[in-house]
Amino acid sequence: MKALIIGAGIGGMSAAAALKQQGIECDIFEAVKEIKPVGAALSIWSNGVKCMNHLGMGSIMDELGGPMHNMAYHDGFTGTVMTQFSLAPLVDAVGERPCPVSRADLQSQMIDWWGRDKIQFGKRIEKVEQSETGVMAYFTDGTSAIGDFMIAADGTHSAVRTHVLGYQTERRYADYVNWNGLVEIDENIAPADQWTTFVGDGKRVSIMPIADGRFYFFFDVPLPKGLEQDRSTVIADLTGYFAGWAEPVQKLIAAINPETTNRIEIHDIEPFDTLVKGNIALLGDAAHSTTPDIGQGGCSALEDSVVLGQCFADQFKGKGKTVSGVLAALKQYEEERRFRVKDLVLKARKRCDVTHGKDMQETQAWYDELRHETGENIIAGLRTTIIGGPLA
Ligand code: FAD
Repeated sequence: MKALIIGAGIGGMSAAAALKQQGIECDIFEAVKEIKPVGAALSIWSNGVKCMNHLGMGSIMDELGGPMHNMAYHDGFTGTVMTQFSLAPLVDAVGERPCPVSRADLQSQMIDWWGRDKIQFGKRIEKVEQSETGVMAYFTDGTSAIGDFMIAADGTHSAVRTHVLGYQTERRYADYVNWNGLVEIDENIAPADQWTTFVGDGKRVSIMPIADGRFYFFFDVPLPKGLEQDRSTVIADLTGYFAGWAEPVQKLIAAINPETTNRIEIHDIEPFDTLVKGNIALLGDAAHSTTPDIGQGGCSALEDSVVLGQCFADQFKGKGKTVSGVLAALKQYEEERRFRVKDLVLKARKRCDVTHGKDMQETQAWYDELRHETGENIIAGLRTTIIGGPLA
């Protein structure tokens, strides 16, 4: 029994780990020769951390997870605290801490955990064929591979998705641009154990600690799509967008390295119900592409993988590894995941609109709420999202 895994991102690597737990051989094919992650870091929330533990990769989280113990919102202009609270009640309620991690380190460690030399890099899938008994992947270098089934974890621009859905999806621009990167921790910018966010005018500046004395930062600015991108103007652009903002924001802008700062126009894809076609399943961003506004894109890829493994365990139990078991496992995976992932994409979209001033009155109401927030409501929201996962 062999699976072809397309993509060596968080989705592909975690799917391989989950299938390995079920005794299924996996061949992993990755388009690029060298992985250069989009984005500097990720917050892997407790649901994602639980998945990493379940998949046997918990030590990666232990090593990479930053000490994010508190959370605070500040008025972007005055710098005054709107709300500040401990995340301990959340950790107590869900039984696991959240881990902000360097994305490059996470991906690299997941690859090393599997064995870098066992992944086939430079293999970009361009066509897929399937029959009742197997799948065939065709790569742009003229080579091909055969397997019993395929997990397509080839990201938001998935080449396999159109085959599975029977139509081409459109990416939807979320009306804001995100700049992100890493800087050395500086407590003049924010406390070293806190996720700190400055808000105002539908913009935000966020800072969270990852391992090795670094802050992950991001700036969000509502902007039209397609503006010119130029590394040499990053500092000037951010200085302009955040003119008049509080001192810590100015310090952060002064500290960033434009060469390692990413600029991303944020998109999502309208959720769809079909995640599986026979013996081919979509997983991760290929299956559900979300804005990062609730930090659940990578976490839900990890959840997909855990559920995938559980479905194979259910379907192979007492029957062995059969073709019909594969089809049943993938169908079960689709059933168990489609509502959850749709919910997360739509929840993130809603949060995105409120955060980024789609209707400034609503955004202002949110700012007003933050000034009265004790942490209870935010923790309740985070808790609901986390316990909706497969390992609640
Ligand atoms: P990817 O990481 O995109 O991996 C897909 C892989 O497939 C890539 O390596 C790619 O090279 C390869 N590939 C592509 N096409 C082909 C092909 N044709 N053939 C073979 N291989 C191919 N998520 C969180 O959980 N928490 C966060 O805090 C968070 N913050 C984010 C911030 C930003 C700014 C962004 C943009 C996203 C954020 N996310 C976050 C979302 C998260 O990054 C994604 O959901 C996650 O990386 C998806 O993993 P994936 O493996 O499905 O896709």
